Amino acid sequence: MKAFQLTAWQQPPELRDVPIPEPGAGQVLVRVGGAGACHSDLHLMEWPEGAMDVSLPFTLGHENAGWVAALGAGVEGVAEGEPVAVYGPWGCGRCAPCRRSAENSCERQAEIGAFGGGLGLDGGMAEYLLVPSSRLLLPLGDLDPRDAAPLSDAALTPYHAIKRALPRLHPGWTAAVIGVGGLGHMAVELLRALTPARIVAVDRDPGRLVLAREVGADEAFAAGPEAIGEIREATRGLGADVVLDIVGSDETIALAAAVAKVEGTVNVLGLAGGSITWQAMGVLPWECELTTTYWGTAIELMEVLELAAAGRIRARTRRYALDDVATAYDDLRAGRIDGRAVICPAGV
Ligand code: NAD
Ligand code: ZN
Ligand code: ZN
Repeated sequence: MKAFQLTAWQQPPELRDVPIPEPGAGQVLVRVGGAGACHSDLHLMEWPEGAMDVSLPFTLGHENAGWVAALGAGVEGVAEGEPVAVYGPWGCGRCAPCRRSAENSCERQAEIGAFGGGLGLDGGMAEYLLVPSSRLLLPLGDLDPRDAAPLSDAALTPYHAIKRALPRLHPGWTAAVIGVGGLGHMAVELLRALTPARIVAVDRDPGRLVLAREVGADEAFAAGPEAIGEIREATRGLGADVVLDIVGSDETIALAAAVAKVEGTVNVLGLAGGSITWQAMGVLPWECELTTTYWGTAIELMEVLELAAAGRIRARTRRYALDDVATAYDDLRAGRIDGRAVICPAGV
């Protein structure tokens, strides 16, 4: 089968011929229907050796959905042909965080030596994906795997961040979303679906501001020095109670800190490598938290799938054949994707 593999650090990935994996005891082979192209993959292609503690080569694609194709010995609970979403952070399955379905916080990640398929182990940019356990598969019901793939990261990650911030998202309170890309457009939809809060969005691309309004933002502002004043004006001068920075550059973290409210929270989801010099006084408003997010739990993914099944959220996608996977990443890098690029190895 064909698989899009990262074979050397800071080199373009290659579409290579590799054997179809055989599921061993406890494992499940999934035929990939959709694999989302995440901006984290672009970071991975750029990071030097050692930035992420995993070995090469591996197949990219950590945002996957498809159909159960074959079961290893002893696998129960899933049937061949069943449509499934693949929960992406693959932990040990046994430690306390894993047992509460938070494999994104697995205590044994360092021993495992990989973060999941597409992040150290072979991922979904291929015809088939080997999943280590049926516990990582969630039933899709009537959702099409090509539409559902982005739910497992582009939606799950902001969902996890928003759930943590729900006590601050009452009527009259404000959430600001910086970066309305794959994750950001889902963040706006999720805020709309889950909360009565006012939503303001910021992006440097004018097309994304249109998208932000389409998916539920009350106001959308161009990134730049004026954005601070515009957000303050939209919040009676007080700032936003919840700021989700889904870019994570020096520039956006500074913006996030500048528009946050007293007692607010700034959550940096983006991995662009930015920083801020923290001081007890003057950098953030009084009693404002600064935090990060890493992916989400399997139970939260079940909740995200419920929202999608009920029609309350929908990822905007552009589909690509597996042969065009390199073009999909080029389009993502160039900012040409509204929503998420999804690679569809079983047909667009
Ligand atoms: P994307 O490329 O689809 O979207 C990024 C958006 O940010 C684009 O709309 C772009 O125009 C906008 N943008 C870029 N620079 C900007 C700036 N200076 N000001 C305002 N807007 C700006 O990317 P994505 O797939 O949504 O990923 C976003 C970030 O989230 C990436 O850094 C990715 O690695 C990270 N990520 C983190 C997690 C996690 O668990 N923490 C999970 C997935 C992705
Ligand atoms: Zn991702
Ligand atoms: Zn664990």
